[in-house]
Amino acid sequence: MLTCIIPCYNEEESLPFFYDEISNILETEGYSYELIFVDDGSTDHTLKILKKLAKMDTRVSFLSFSRNFGKESAMYAGLCHAHGDYIAVMDADMQDPPSLLPEMLNIVQTGGYDCVATRRVTREGEPVIRSWFARRFYKIINKISDVNIVDGARDFRLMKRSMVEAVVAIGEYNRFSKGIFGWVGFQTYWISYDNTERVAGMTKWNFWKLFKYAIDGILNFSQVPLNISSWFGMAMTFFSFVILIFIILRKCLFGDPVNGWASLVCIIIFIGGIQLFCMGIMGQYIAKTYMETKKRPHYIISESNIIDTKNIK
Ligand code: UDP
Ligand code: MG
Repeated sequence: MLTCIIPCYNEEESLPFFYDEISNILETEGYSYELIFVDDGSTDHTLKILKKLAKMDTRVSFLSFSRNFGKESAMYAGLCHAHGDYIAVMDADMQDPPSLLPEMLNIVQTGGYDCVATRRVTREGEPVIRSWFARRFYKIINKISDVNIVDGARDFRLMKRSMVEAVVAIGEYNRFSKGIFGWVGFQTYWISYDNTERVAGMTKWNFWKLFKYAIDGILNFSQVPLNISSWFGMAMTFFSFVILIFIILRKCLFGDPVNGWASLVCIIIFIGGIQLFCMGIMGQYIAKTYMETKKRPHYIISESNIIDTKNIK
């Protein structure tokens, strides 16, 4: 059986298109399947539509969160509740074309792969600045972390149950799925496709949300920023030691004229800045550790038509 997990946040406009398209494709192919829609605290009529679909079609399940927990939590909840032997995660806005599913299933069933993942080869329709930052992000994170994170990788992927179990077993609170999928390993086949515009509604990501997500990704999968701050510290200590000797020698040889005030202030400000910057980096890691130790649930389900719902996880 195939399980499709669809995180939805205010998707009332795209859902009918999505449901028609995916049911059409999967029915024509004759698969047995279930669709798990995760309503991530939508404020529009998404839940109403999902309830209607579930009444009409027994293959439709829904989980509705008590508030917006974010796409990462929504994907995690879906993975925790999936029953299928093959499990796909996809967006509700048709930017992850359901028409690729038969090909993806075929690859995992016959090609000896555990997972088929997708990446966009073009970033058309996206602001230039955003694309530029996205490219830099992938370059940096691949340099400073051990896991390989593919440029343009989407969350759209189809996995075997064994891989999903590994992903679910990683119960960390700060989730960055692109990294987790890479971290668990398994044989992955990559499909490339051109970017498509969403069918209806608006994207939920603005530049700052994406920027914060990128920083989260780096903090979750690399300790290099911490190393950089200790290297900075060491270099600075060495540098100030050299300066100290220079100043002592100058005092002994030429006395102590009161000048050089400006350069002194510059140096103090410079070092103060670097210290704050490094403390900030450490603070980010401590904050992440703090959230992990609280062991707060990833999501809270307020309503669902799945009987054995683990409401809080
Ligand atoms: N989404 C979600 N919770 C959020 C934001 C988004 O479940 O807080 C869902 C959204 O409904 C969609 C998918 O995640 O199905 C991708 O979102 P979007 O299309 O806005 O992102 P983009 O494709 O622009 O990267
Ligand atoms: Mg989208």
